[in-house]
Formats: sequence, C-alpha cells, structure tokens
Amino acid sequence: MNSALVDFHCHLDLFPDLASAVSETERDRVYTITVTTTPKAWPRNHELTRTTKYVRAALGLHPQLVLERSKEISLWEQYLPQTRYVGEVGLDAGPRFFRSLELQKGIFEHILQRCATAGGKILTVHSVRAATLVLDLIERYLPPEKGCIVLHWFTGSKSEARRAIDLGCYFSVNAQMLRTDRGRELMAILPSARILTETDAPFTQVSDRPTRPSDVSLVIEAIANLRRMTPAEVAAMICANLRKALRG
Ligand code: MN
Repeated sequence: MNSALVDFHCHLDLFPDLASAVSETERDRVYTITVTTTPKAWPRNHELTRTTKYVRAALGLHPQLVLERSKEISLWEQYLPQTRYVGEVGLDAGPRFFRSLELQKGIFEHILQRCATAGGKILTVHSVRAATLVLDLIERYLPPEKGCIVLHWFTGSKSEARRAIDLGCYFSVNAQMLRTDRGRELMAILPSARILTETDAPFTQVSDRPTRPSDVSLVIEAIANLRRMTPAEVAAMICANLRKALRG
C-alpha cells in the first residue's frame, strides 16, 4: 500500500505513555489526529506534537466531561489560536450524560461560534444519541464555509446522515462500526468523498488488545470489502479526502 494511513480520531494521551505513543505513530507514518478530552491536557499534547510530521493534536472538551469541566471553556478559548484541530467536542444524550445535556449544548454552541469566528478549523465531533441536535447547532453556527466538521463514530439514522452530508460533513469510520449492521448501512449511503478512517484508540479492540493508529488498516480492508475496491484504492481515496478536508 503506497498511500499513508489516516487515523482521524484517537486518544494517544490515554495510552500508558503519550510520548512513546506519538513516536510509534510517527514511525508507522499514520496521519493522526489525537484528540484531547479536557483543555488542561492541551499543553503537553501540543508540546509533544508541535514538530511531528504525522501526528497533530486537537483541542477538546469532551461532552461526557462537561458537567465537571465546563469552567475549563475559558482555557479552551485561550488555547484555540494554537491549533487548527478541535476535538473531542460535541453532544452526548446517552443515559449517563443526559442530565448535563443543556450545559453541553451551551458549551458546544460556544465552541462552534468561536471556531466560526476564527475560521479554518477542523472539528472531530461526538454525537451519541444527539445527531439531530448536533446537526442543528452545526447548521446554525458552523456552515461549511466557516469550518470543516468530521463526525466521529456516527450512529445517527440514515436521514440524519443524509442531512449531515448536505451540511458538508465528513464521517470518520472505525472497524468496530463496520462490524455492525447499522455501521454497514451507513457506509452504503456515504459518498466516497466524505469518508475518513479512525480507530478511536484505545477505546476499540483488535484481537483482545486496545487498538493503535496503525490498526486503521483494518478499516481500510473492511471498506474495501464493502465497496468492492482494493485496499490500495481505498487508502488512496482516504488520503485524497484528508487533503481535501485540510484544504478547507
Ligand atoms: Mn473518542
């Protein structure tokens, strides 16, 4: 395979050792967005990725942590000029986080507005049980000309997916999604030009160990099977999509 691999959403700072996870990913030559879940984690992530070739850090405030961390939004704002990449951000309306949904909405709205003002940001967005709400806020605050949205591990309905496509969103897809009927049905309606790959490492597994960015090769294989393409063709397509997303 000649094209480089792309892991558009993982958490290298949740690996046992961030510095070695970054250098391993550089060695494997996987273009990687490593997200953060709290702004307090930013300085160290930024420090370890400011001169790397393949790994970029994203500045996040995870919706599942908003209840305890909403005050860190001022820190998030302070760091925003240091990066083009924002995430993990979004909404989670699952049973464990539903009670903070109103607070999450306020924070996400604020993040989208700040990104729109800054311009040229690329966001990796969580939308568990909240796809319509997430899309409502994106439509209102961050239309495609103001920034690039990549929906991470999207589990919304097909009509929500179609709406996201119309709103210019990309989708980062992982191997675990493609093991489910729902994930494969989503893949069937996604335009090739909107697909990116991810691992969400270390939250997904491969043969009983947590994934790492180079495991996106499994996603490439799964997409190749579903689309009747060769893995090399899929890898080239994902690389072209990455370039397009970054061009903005
Ligand atoms: Mn994640």
